[in-house]
Amino acid sequence: MRQILAGATAAKGMALGRARLVQPSRYLVDTRPLGEDEVESELARLHHALDTARQELRELRGRLHGALAREVNEFIDAHSLLLDDPELLRGLDDLVRIGHYRPGAALKKQRDRLAAVFEAMDDPYLRSRKEDVDQVIGRVISALQRQTSREERKLAARVGEILIADTIAPADMAHLAGAGLLGVVASSGSPYSHSAILARSLDLPMLVGVRDALSTIHDDDLILLDAERGEAVVHPTAQDLAHYRAWQREAAQEGRRLATLAHAPTRTKDGADIRLLANAEMPPDIAMARARGADGVGLYRTEFLFLRQKGLPTEDEQFNAYRDLVLGMGGLPVTIRTLDLGADKADAAGLVLRGEDNPALGVRGVRLSLRYPAVFTTQIRAILRAACYGPVRVLVPMVTQPDELIAVRTLFKLARQELKRENVDLPEKLSLGAMVEVPAAAINVRALLEHADFLAIGTNDLAQYVLAADRGNDALDNIYNPLQPALLRLLSYVIAEGRRAKKPVSLCGEIGGDVHFTALLLALGLNEFSMHPSQLLHVRDRLATLDRTVLRAHAPRLLRARTHEEAEALLAQIVG
Ligand code: PEP
Ligand code: MG
Repeated sequence: MRQILAGATAAKGMALGRARLVQPSRYLVDTRPLGEDEVESELARLHHALDTARQELRELRGRLHGALAREVNEFIDAHSLLLDDPELLRGLDDLVRIGHYRPGAALKKQRDRLAAVFEAMDDPYLRSRKEDVDQVIGRVISALQRQTSREERKLAARVGEILIADTIAPADMAHLAGAGLLGVVASSGSPYSHSAILARSLDLPMLVGVRDALSTIHDDDLILLDAERGEAVVHPTAQDLAHYRAWQREAAQEGRRLATLAHAPTRTKDGADIRLLANAEMPPDIAMARARGADGVGLYRTEFLFLRQKGLPTEDEQFNAYRDLVLGMGGLPVTIRTLDLGADKADAAGLVLRGEDNPALGVRGVRLSLRYPAVFTTQIRAILRAACYGPVRVLVPMVTQPDELIAVRTLFKLARQELKRENVDLPEKLSLGAMVEVPAAAINVRALLEHADFLAIGTNDLAQYVLAADRGNDALDNIYNPLQPALLRLLSYVIAEGRRAKKPVSLCGEIGGDVHFTALLLALGLNEFSMHPSQLLHVRDRLATLDRTVLRAHAPRLLRARTHEEAEALLAQIVG
């Protein structure tokens, strides 16, 4: 049966694939009692599902050969025996016929009963048989829940997988993308989470906040993930598939049109030049940034180097990555952000402090780096060495107060002296900038500007800290809104203060690459945007339609908005 599940788009695009549940909804069953007239048909459905499960096991056996087959066949035999166990089958029949259990509920009841029997056994081998029971009954429940037609199964076998999960960790997503994952449907999460950022970076369509995904979708269901409209279509119809093909054609056409903008200047309608920078994490981002005519890299997130492997990357490993970045940008400036581990970014390196009650308000970003000067110095040395290959700026995350910048500068100075003693080539003086993502840094930005050569506003975090709303929590959607007046006023203030101090200010949060906010940011005086490279041409295209002088004149009105709804309405009015 076709079903539409709505969610919020975290990464645009569409994909057609088979569902793969990370937490299968195997034991989410309907517990309402059966009506007398349903008993026979439901019994038939149950036996049909049992037959399907037996058939699957036979097919599985047929596909295995050699030593592996001998080992696995033992399990298949055990599972087949369980499926034919007279006691189990009689119990199921009785539960449906006499107890008026629905088949799924009857299976679950039998599973719980058998599991309890095995669990009570002393022999560890027999105790472990509980897993077999789980797997066998899970297989029957899957067969029961699967309503896929034969045609749909044939089609599904030819397409890849769409992950259905509650949430997904960035590291898992990177791994699965390499294994051919087509898209993600998450039942919670937010478009501003790091997983969402990564999905955009990997060009994987992703929906978040699809509430009933895990209880409605089953393994192997055919899914049309439509992250353009913000919905997942379960069991799509021929009409849905036609819509998908039309989208594919349009996307290819739009891609060709935008490609003509790749090396066009970035200019507003009234002729103001704007700098478009790229946010980068991985080598393909760098290639895309070049191909789409970025003016440089505005944010290189180095933590991805630390999350990819267990343990810390060595100085040489880091140097190689940074040098490749610098060389890859062919003489354009690159902004390397020092390590921003903590909070939602996993602790692969073993650095994140355990037991913090509020990790987002804890030792993360520069706070963490300054606690581990030896680890930080390794990164600083690698950056200094790479900076001999092209223009590099250094960006410090989670700055709260000037002394943190002063401490980072001192570490850079010491690392230079060390490298000099080792006769290593050194670059000219590097610019040192601060991320403005902590409210204190924004409010006290004048003091920060005395020590920073440039600023990069991180609206993903600034919004979460100004609004006291976790950027990954979809229950706070109505609060976590980039158009919140408090945030707009802070942005306007920081941009104006940067201009007053004659220091560059860029913005590298997700709104920088979202065309919905391009007019707003121009109105607030921003002239350096940093974004995921996939957005560069869209933003360049949008900027060419906007008149900066007119928008600037509207800024005072926008800044008087009292609610985000009011700001949204005003923006719509201004842009027309
Ligand atoms: C931000 O906070 O806006 C930002 C760009 O940094 P990250 O998303 O890596 O925290
Ligand atoms: Mg941040």
